[in-house]
Amino acid sequence: MAVSTTAQSRPTDDVELPIPNFIGGEWIRSSASDALPVHDPGTGEPLGRVPLSTRDDVHAAVAAAKEAFPAWRATPAVDRVRVLFRLQALLHEHRDDLARDLSREHGKNVAECSGEIQRGIENVEHACCIPTLMMGDTLEDVARGIDCETVRQPLGVFAGITPYNFPVMIPMWFWPYAVATGNTFVLKPSEQDPLTHQRIVELAAQAGLPSGVLNIVHGDHSAADAILEHPDVAGISFVGSSAVARMVYAKAAQTGKRVQALGGAKNHMVVLPDADLDFASEAAISSVFGSAGQRCLANSVLVGVGEAYDRVKERVLDRATSLRVGYGLDEDTFMGPVISRRHRDRVVDLIDQGEREGASVALDGRGFQVDGYPEGHWVGPTVLEGVEPGTHVGQEEIFGPVLGLTRAESVEEAIALMHEIEYGNATSIFTQSGRAAREFRYHAGISMIGVNIGVAAPMACFPFGGSRGSFYGDLKAQGKDAVEFFTDKRVIISRW
Ligand code: NAD
Repeated sequence: MAVSTTAQSRPTDDVELPIPNFIGGEWIRSSASDALPVHDPGTGEPLGRVPLSTRDDVHAAVAAAKEAFPAWRATPAVDRVRVLFRLQALLHEHRDDLARDLSREHGKNVAECSGEIQRGIENVEHACCIPTLMMGDTLEDVARGIDCETVRQPLGVFAGITPYNFPVMIPMWFWPYAVATGNTFVLKPSEQDPLTHQRIVELAAQAGLPSGVLNIVHGDHSAADAILEHPDVAGISFVGSSAVARMVYAKAAQTGKRVQALGGAKNHMVVLPDADLDFASEAAISSVFGSAGQRCLANSVLVGVGEAYDRVKERVLDRATSLRVGYGLDEDTFMGPVISRRHRDRVVDLIDQGEREGASVALDGRGFQVDGYPEGHWVGPTVLEGVEPGTHVGQEEIFGPVLGLTRAESVEEAIALMHEIEYGNATSIFTQSGRAAREFRYHAGISMIGVNIGVAAPMACFPFGGSRGSFYGDLKAQGKDAVEFFTDKRVIISRW
C-alpha cells in the first residue's frame, strides 16, 4: 500500500506505525505483519518500528529497480552525477540535523555522528568523479587494421545489506557508486537503526534521483535472504559480522552474483618504546572507546613492546578512568551507550569470560550507570590485562568499550601474535623508527594499517576492507574498487 506518492515527502513518522519502504519512488508500507521496535539506546524511548519486510516486498523493490535500469543507464554519466552534486549540497545543508537524529538512534555523540555524515558525503563527492573514473582504454592497431577498446558497463540491479554501527556512512560506501555508474540499487539497512537513512533517501529524491533508481526495503535476515536469492540481483555489497559475511559470500557464489562481504575485526595497536607515549595513549583512548568500541577499525588489543608496556598501560588507565560516559546528545559526552540491551549483555558476558580465562580486570565497566538515564545500555570503559591470543577474549570481536592489554618483546613477536587471530581488518603501530614502521607494514598481513594513526580509516578515494576472516571477496568498498565492482569491462575488437 502506497502511503504517499511524493518521493520527497516521507509520511510523518508515527512511532507506532512501521516505517515505510521506499520502492519505485514511493513510500510504501510493507506487507509484513511483524515489526521490531527501534529504541533510543540512551533513554530507552521508542523511536519507531521497522517492518520485517516480506519476500513480496523485496520482489517489488527489485522489480522497480529493474524497470528503472534502462532509462537510468541511458542517462549520460555527466547528468547522473549532477544529481549527486545536488545531493552533496543538500547533505551539507542538513548535516547538523542528520547528526542529531543519528545520535538519538545510534547513541554515539553528535561530533562522531557529524564525522560519519562527512564520510558519507565524501563518498558522494568521489562518486561525482565517475565520468573520469569510468573511462575505458583503447589501443589502435592491436593487429593490422584492427582496434581494440574496453568500455565499462553497468550490470543492472545491485543490493546492499548493511550493519548498525555506521548506518549513514556504510550504505554510502556503495549506492552512490552503483547509481553513478548507471546501475540501480536496493538497500536493506540494519533493522536496529534505520531511521536516519530514510532522510538521506528523501534528500536523494529531492536532488532528482529518478524513481526506482534507489529503493529501500527494511527487515532482518529474511529480507536479506530474499535479496540474496533473487535472480535479478547482479551483485551484493554486504557489511556485518564475519559469520554472516561468510554465509553471504557463499550464497552469492551459489546464485552467481558478484559479492563483496566485509566482516568483523579484532585489531591490534602495537606501541614501541621509542613512540611518543602520550600521543600513542591518547590515540588508543579515541580508537578503543570512541563510538563505545562499535567500530570495525577500533583497536581492541594494545600490544606494549618491552618497556613501553608499563608506561602506556599507566597512561591509558589514567585517561580511561576519567572518560565522560553519557547520553550522545548531551554536551561533553565522550562515549555513549551500546546499541541494545542484548549487545550490552553480550559485551558483559565476554568480559566475564575473559576474567574466567585468567585476564585481570584493571578497569571494570560492568554494571555502569549514568545518572538520569536508567534505561540506557551502558558499559563503562573496561581494561583487561593479560589478554592472550589463545583465549576466547583474545580471539573474539567484542565490539564494545573493552581494551585488552598484552605485551611482546619485539615488533616480530607483536606481528606473530596478530597472526594468531583469524581477523585481518586493521592495525596500528606507534613508533619513531621508520625502519620498524616499514618492517611492520611489510609483514603485518593486515589490510588497513595506521602508522602513528589510531583509526586507520581510508578516505573515499581509497579502498576500504580487510583480509582473512574480515573480508570475503576481492574488490573492496570505495575508491577505484567500487568502479570495478559496479561495472563490467567489455572489450570491443573492430575492423572496418
Ligand atoms: P550483523 O552481521 O548482525 O548484521 C549486518 C546485516 O546483516 C544487517 O542488515 C542484518 O539484518 C543482516 N543479517 C543478519 N543476519 C543475517 C543472515 N543470517 N543472513 C543475511 N543477512 C543477515 O552485524 P551488525 O551487528 O549489524 O554489525 C556489527 C558487525 O559489522 C561487526 O562484526 C563489525 O565488525 C562489522 N562491521 C565491519 C565493517 C568492515 O568494514 N569490515 C564495517 C562496519 C561493521
